[in-house]
Amino acid sequence: MGIPKGCRTEGVDIIKQACPEHSRRICKKNPAYPQNDLQELLVRELWAIRGMTHEIRANQIANHAGLPLIWLDKIPEINGKQGIEKLLVERSIILLRNRTSPFIEQFQHPIGRCAKFYKLTAYNNCNFWCEYCYLYLTFRTQPVSTHFVNYEKMFDEIIKFDQSNIPEYLRVLNLGELGDPLAVDYITGFAQKIIPFMPKYAPNTRLLFLTKSDCVDDILSLDHGGLSIISFSINTDPVFYQLEHRTPSPESRLAAAAKAQKAGYEVRLRIDPVIFYSTWETDYITLVDKIFEYVRPTRITIGEYRPSNGLANHINSRFPKSHLLKINRSLVKEGGKLRYPERLRIKIFRTIIEAIKRHKDDIAIALCKEPPPIWKAVGLNVKGLRCNCLR
Ligand code: SF4
Repeated sequence: MGIPKGCRTEGVDIIKQACPEHSRRICKKNPAYPQNDLQELLVRELWAIRGMTHEIRANQIANHAGLPLIWLDKIPEINGKQGIEKLLVERSIILLRNRTSPFIEQFQHPIGRCAKFYKLTAYNNCNFWCEYCYLYLTFRTQPVSTHFVNYEKMFDEIIKFDQSNIPEYLRVLNLGELGDPLAVDYITGFAQKIIPFMPKYAPNTRLLFLTKSDCVDDILSLDHGGLSIISFSINTDPVFYQLEHRTPSPESRLAAAAKAQKAGYEVRLRIDPVIFYSTWETDYITLVDKIFEYVRPTRITIGEYRPSNGLANHINSRFPKSHLLKINRSLVKEGGKLRYPERLRIKIFRTIIEAIKRHKDDIAIALCKEPPPIWKAVGLNVKGLRCNCLR
């Protein structure tokens, strides 16, 4: 996997989108309409559904973002499109609508390889274009990125959750399971509402924002009361250039992490998905060194690339030349997913863990959705688990 040279404009535009200079521009001032038209807008317009969307709030968001708001009678059928055209329809739009299902649900891993953490669904899907995104599969029947705007119902559920009898280690609401909760926050302004809500109305509960965004400026001065955790997902530069289109560069995310930490937020990191390619060893060690130049995370959670069986078709319909399609063919079936063979991932995890420990020996390091023998093989203890998604 090589880094594309500069900002080439020929061929498929995703190469251009991957240029860090362009990606960074996505969330600078007046982000909904960047000054330079080289950059495709991350979000081009907002949609809302008559009778199913909090009208005043949808108008407020549109005014705040300076984006057109299109009112529809129902969600349009957009399946059938392919490639960039498909992505532009699915992920260049935010559908604003009310959520009728519960906002708070407990995560249940099909074979018990994960704690039963709680997720808070403020967004379905995402406006970034990572090639490996499992949400292509999760939201295959409703792929338009969505933000739920009936905050009153959400906040009622949070208060009830806060007052219920839930073990301490599960008293965290994960906003990053079904979307990136900060990717379009400069458009929705949602984080600015929910972060100060917690110390006032739900002081026994924490929020977890898992993100690849670097748009943290709007949350730095909020009264967060130590109840919001900002967890940045980062990866090597080649993975970013090749696979994480329209996201800010890893270095921009780390700079944002440093700002969040300075503002008193707990900062965690995820190195996930770890991808095996020719220069992986040097690149992941360099990434770890870079992390500690910027920030002192409280926890680092590592996860390998582990697609579900059905994901390849969905990657193929959006990125038919994706390197991941070749990688998928070399993976083995394990625990309902495709994974790198055990010996290889032990080697990769060990390398990253050793690099982390050279900087900080006592940091909480966890593996995401790995069985106990893998933890043991890399020198980690699964007991007393302190991973990304727990309090
Ligand atoms: S940031 Fe996460 S949710 Fe968004 S496209 Fe990438 S993998 Fe998917």
